[in-house]
Formats: sequence, C-alpha cells, structure tokens
Amino acid sequence: MHRLQSFFAGRNGSDALSKTTSIVACLLLILSMFFRGVVSSILWALAFLFLALSYFRMFSRNIWKRREENQKFLARTAPIARKWRQWKLRWRQRNLYAFFKCPQCGTVLRVPKGKGKVRVTCKSCGNVIERST
Ligand SMILES: [Zn+2]
Repeated sequence: MHRLQSFFAGRNGSDALSKTTSIVACLLLILSMFFRGVVSSILWALAFLFLALSYFRMFSRNIWKRREENQKFLARTAPIARKWRQWKLRWRQRNLYAFFKCPQCGTVLRVPKGKGKVRVTCKSCGNVIERST
C-alpha cells in the first residue's frame, strides 16, 4: 500500500475525467464483442485509446494541466450531472412522492403519495393545480 501511495505521489491520480474515459473504454470493449471484422477492430482500437488516455491522465505529473482539463470536463457536463442527480433523487423518493410538471411553467413539482386529491400551488408561477395522488 505504501509503495502504491509513493508511486502516485506527485501524479494526477484518478479524477472525474479519467474515470469517465475508462468507463467509455469498457463500454467500447463490450460493444466491440457484438460486432465482427473491421467494426470490431475499430471499436477495440478506440477502447484501447480511451484506456491509454485514462492511464496517461492518472499517471501524469503535469497536475495543473490535468486539473484544468478536468475542470473543463466538469463544466461542460454540469447540466448532465444535474439531471442525473435529480433523476436519482426522484428514484429514491418514488415510493413517497409523485412528481409532475407544472402545466404553465414546466417546473417539476412534488406531492406526497397516497393523500387523495391535493391542491398544489406552483412555487415559480403561482399556478394552482389539483392532482389525485
Ligand atoms: Zn408553474
């Protein structure tokens, strides 16, 4: 463990971008199994490139450059990440709450399940909606 720690000292290590590139590499490898010939070879080569990129970034000693790349990546994928977090929250609360969009402004509203007919006032536009839960 200590040897591994000293090996990673002064190196970038794993970050969101390198994790994503290695996940993409795995997906490409899995995908390549469903094809034959040239397509399979191209997918395999792409997977190898993504994996090489991931390892290059993890072992890189140019930490500032790698950090900058990671920040750019995070900034670009922020809307997707936000959507994903929202979806996970909704999934966790699916037994307790019903989710629906305000017909007037599109804001997502949450009402407790199993309460019969409820009247909901939209927080953003003040629209009153009646829903049975
Ligand atoms: Zn609304």
